[in-house]
Amino acid sequence: TDSLPLGPVPTYKVISPNVRYTDMHILADYTYHNATVSKNEIDGTLKVIPTETKYKFKTEVNIPKVGLMMVGWGGNNGSTLTASIIANREKISWHTKEGLKSANYFGSVVQASTLKIGVDTKGNDVFIPFNNILPMVHPNDLVLGGWDISSLNLAQAMERAKVLDYDLQRQVKLKLEQLKPLPSIYYPDFIAANQSDRADNLISGNNKKEHLEQIRKDIREFKAANQLDKIIVVWTANTERYAEIIPGVNDTADNILKAVENSHPEIAPSTIFALACILEKTPFINGSPQNTFVPGCIELAEREHVYIGGDDFKSGQTKVKSVLVDFLVNAGIKPIGITSYNHLGNNDGKNLSAPQQFRSKEISKSNVVDDMVAANGILFKPGEHPDHVVVIKYVPAVGDSKRALDEYVSEIFMGGKNTISLYNTCEDSLLASPLILDLAIITELMTRIEYCAGDMKEYESFDAVLSILSFMLKAPLVPPGTPVVNALSKQRMAMENFFRACVGLAPQNEMLLEHKAP
Ligand code: NAD
Repeated sequence: TDSLPLGPVPTYKVISPNVRYTDMHILADYTYHNATVSKNEIDGTLKVIPTETKYKFKTEVNIPKVGLMMVGWGGNNGSTLTASIIANREKISWHTKEGLKSANYFGSVVQASTLKIGVDTKGNDVFIPFNNILPMVHPNDLVLGGWDISSLNLAQAMERAKVLDYDLQRQVKLKLEQLKPLPSIYYPDFIAANQSDRADNLISGNNKKEHLEQIRKDIREFKAANQLDKIIVVWTANTERYAEIIPGVNDTADNILKAVENSHPEIAPSTIFALACILEKTPFINGSPQNTFVPGCIELAEREHVYIGGDDFKSGQTKVKSVLVDFLVNAGIKPIGITSYNHLGNNDGKNLSAPQQFRSKEISKSNVVDDMVAANGILFKPGEHPDHVVVIKYVPAVGDSKRALDEYVSEIFMGGKNTISLYNTCEDSLLASPLILDLAIITELMTRIEYCAGDMKEYESFDAVLSILSFMLKAPLVPPGTPVVNALSKQRMAMENFFRACVGLAPQNEMLLEHKAP
């Protein structure tokens, strides 16, 4: 509605004895309700005991000056996001055959979705922009930078990507020409051989320790040159092959640092970036499917208390899958076959046409229904799983306009079958780019929130693995040993309710009791 407050600074206040606002912080006392369940091994009955845990949350309210550094800055996502932020900053409009278009942030949860904050005196829902729930950085204020193995400046990269309309490209070109990716790390063994012809902007030598130190230096220099308070780094570079997990090499924090010193061949460029960020106390998010976060890397992040998140942007087909399968299974319908075809013609598709890089993508796309299936023991016996196949083909003619064709076959009432076919077409990079913003902005916010629970004496940061980012990620990384949630509605609820907790509000329950039992 037109009464929505604009901008990232919260324009509401919670009036409650549990919430305190100071110049520096929002402080909230919060009771977390859960239930613990134990099973009687003799008769199988469950004992369910409601639990209450007291938490305190402290959110720093001053919005810092933040840099967003992208690895793969000159790619389709990196160049599209950069051009789009400039277009938004400068309120640019451009002509297309469909008329005049103007810059927006559609597709960003933070910028373009709302959440219900409560009801008014007449019982009507009141919504605020998502980015209003707590003070968040505005994308227009991010200072952009990054690395690419290709030397093209961002204007040339945008042209190569063929994503944005020409009349827009024309208007941002001068600004983009001034932006040039820093040289990056290229280990040809990790990405498809067909990428070698663009690799002309490389940090020299084969010494992985020197590469790590160079990335650390780049981060420090970017921070100093732009007088930034913080930097968030996002990997939006090519999908790499999986790294082998080798005991003594990448299994612990100490071993992986040693393996870097020895330039061990199984340490991937993305892992070097992750390690460099962790050592620089800079959060690192992996937007591609490969296993950048090998166990040693996760252990280092936990040890250094630096946030990491991943893996693989959840932009199109998988996002729909994490809605549709959730719907089917929760409706008591049994999906038995899920078949997904993709074809795309951008450089990502070209890289994924190599078997090992495709395999990384196949893995990250495959596990997305596991939690939903495992949650319904009526439809699925233990270990039973729908057939699930993912195919990706490179078809240069369609460019960045990815096609995703899906078929869901389900068993319904009394032996019936239901088949749903979907055909989805859109520019891949226009779906993925806003997710980079959400990931960076929510990660930055998380660096300003601390909690205190039970007998903890002081406020602390959360687990280093940011599972709160799952909504934007295909194969969410979670703290070791904790459950993965793929269902999109649950992921959204987790974010919304967590941020509500930080201002002392109870979780959104959708009971609408005020209308049912007034
Ligand atoms: P792209 O190929 O256009 O861009 C990747 C860029 O990374 C290229 O410019 C390349 O030169 C650069 N690069 C490769 N290795 C590098 C390294 N070691 N250091 C620095 N730069 C390096 O791809 P894209 O369409 O922008 O997608 C980027 C990544 O995001 C891909 O891995 C893709 O699988 C992943 N992803 C994209 C989407 C989407 O919808 N677009 C969704 C999920 C995941």
